[in-house]
Amino acid sequence: MSLLPSKISWKVFTLWLACLGAGLAFVLAVVQWVGFVSAQDLSKIGADRLSLYHGTLHSALEKHRYLPFVLSRDEDIRELLSVADGREGLVLSVNRSLNATNQKAESDVLYVLNSEGTTLAASNWLEERSFVGHNYAFRPYYKDAIDGREVGFFAVGATTGVPGFFMSHAVVNEAGVSGVIVAKVDLRPLQQQWHDGGEHVIVTDKNGVIFLSSRDEWRYRAVSPISKASMVNIRTNRQFAGAELEPLKLKKLNIFGREVFEIDGERFLVLTRDAGKPGWAMHFLTPFKFIREKQQTALLIGTVLLVLFLMGGLFIRERRQKLRSAQRAREADRFQAINEMLQVEIDERKRTEGQLLKTQADLVQTGKLAALGQMSAAIAHEINQPMAAIRTFTASARLLLGKGKRDQVGQSLEEISSLTERMGKITGELKTFARKAPVEYQVVDLREALKRAIALMQTVCEQEGVTVQLRDLGDLVPVSGDIIRLEQVFVNLLRNAADAMQECDENTILVTLRRINDLVIVIVEDNGTGIEPEIMDQLFDPFFTTKDVGKGVGLGLSISYGIVKDFGGNIRAENLEAGGARFVVEFPCAAAE
Ligand code: ADP
Repeated sequence: MSLLPSKISWKVFTLWLACLGAGLAFVLAVVQWVGFVSAQDLSKIGADRLSLYHGTLHSALEKHRYLPFVLSRDEDIRELLSVADGREGLVLSVNRSLNATNQKAESDVLYVLNSEGTTLAASNWLEERSFVGHNYAFRPYYKDAIDGREVGFFAVGATTGVPGFFMSHAVVNEAGVSGVIVAKVDLRPLQQQWHDGGEHVIVTDKNGVIFLSSRDEWRYRAVSPISKASMVNIRTNRQFAGAELEPLKLKKLNIFGREVFEIDGERFLVLTRDAGKPGWAMHFLTPFKFIREKQQTALLIGTVLLVLFLMGGLFIRERRQKLRSAQRAREADRFQAINEMLQVEIDERKRTEGQLLKTQADLVQTGKLAALGQMSAAIAHEINQPMAAIRTFTASARLLLGKGKRDQVGQSLEEISSLTERMGKITGELKTFARKAPVEYQVVDLREALKRAIALMQTVCEQEGVTVQLRDLGDLVPVSGDIIRLEQVFVNLLRNAADAMQECDENTILVTLRRINDLVIVIVEDNGTGIEPEIMDQLFDPFFTTKDVGKGVGLGLSISYGIVKDFGGNIRAENLEAGGARFVVEFPCAAAE
């Protein structure tokens, strides 16, 4: 069973499928392009945001950079670091001074370490978690300061647990380094600011540990596994207190030619830059869902447009089909009307044909009646005359017999006998029409029939001074027929020719025999009176004659016509230009036996 409606051909279905495929491919390409362009746009925006966040971090760190250096020149502090005992009053004074400076500079804590790393004075000397008395020799900022480096160090407070950035500077006197001044800056307000902005910013150190993050759950997590040596180091200087530093579930990807982080299944477009301190990197993360949302919107619009396009196509196709069917219906109606018209015409023609046939039959009937009338008139004429003569001769014979004139009676009787003979001849010829003898076909030599006819006419011609000239082929001319009847045809033609030349001085009948392909032609020409054009059509009609009464009955040509037709031939008459008539008789040639 076909899954397609029978109206839709496979070709059309494939075309639609191809259109759908091409449309889908186009939509997907557009979606991809939207993703690419969105990633590009978001990267540009991200770069700007990253610059901004970098600026805030930089200013937060640089703001207090001068403090350790300035405090290292403070006379009280220097004295405190140089005297070993009896300095309670001095400690108090320095503590107060540090506290006042701390408040003014808005730093977190300011404190003074002796050359062993123990805190002698601190701005938080009055607080519960005061640094005073604590040793910080394990912190890198202490060692860096002793070695004359000003690097800075981020760490979670060992005493307070508060994270911050530590900056240090060594106090040097004639004997060497007498102590170290440390300023701690609390970066949590900055972090809070980032968090409140609702954006994703992280800062990693050289070990890949996130120490500043706008998202709490990422803080103190590593973006890459930390080596053992680095871990030992971190534990030694207690940088992140007791934090586990678990690596994040992070996958680094490359989409649309951009760096993408997949953190706990969530994707972010990442922009990274150097954060200003050795090993530090700042990352700005844009949720990838923004790109996905734009792509989804493009997909939705594209799909809707594609569906609309396909529906439009279907609508147009449907409409076109409707128009086509309407046109077909119109054409069918037109054909129907034409058919009906044709039927009417056919009926009309049939009726006309019927009428014609009837008229023809009527005409034939009329023709038959006319011919019968003509024949009756001719027979009556031919028979009446001898009968009237017989009556006269009989009456005169009776009178002569009464007078005893016997020899004259014999003469009358002879006349009567010749008249009855003539009547017998007429009735004899009529028999030819009455009972048609069965046609016997034999292959006969036409030359022979012709020669016999000329021989028969020889005596008559000699009496009438007519010469018969035969242009023979000199060869056998086989035709299918009956020699006696053929002879009859030629005798008739010679007789008529001789009759037509009675008034002429020079009387020659020219008989020509010809053979053209499978046709045998006999031409009988005379130089007689010729045939009147108006009687040309009647020549072969029975009883048509122009001869005087007693000389012709008008049956010769009619009988000849019948014989020639019986043998599959043809006969026609025409006038010669020089005067006289020509009769042409054609027969199909038979195979010689
Ligand atoms: P008939 O000889 O008894 O008249 P036919 O049928 O033989 O009857 O001829 C019909 C008529 O055709 C003739 O009366 C004559 O007028 C015309 N006809 C026939 N042959 C010739 C001829 N060779 N020349 C002129 N007229 C002819």
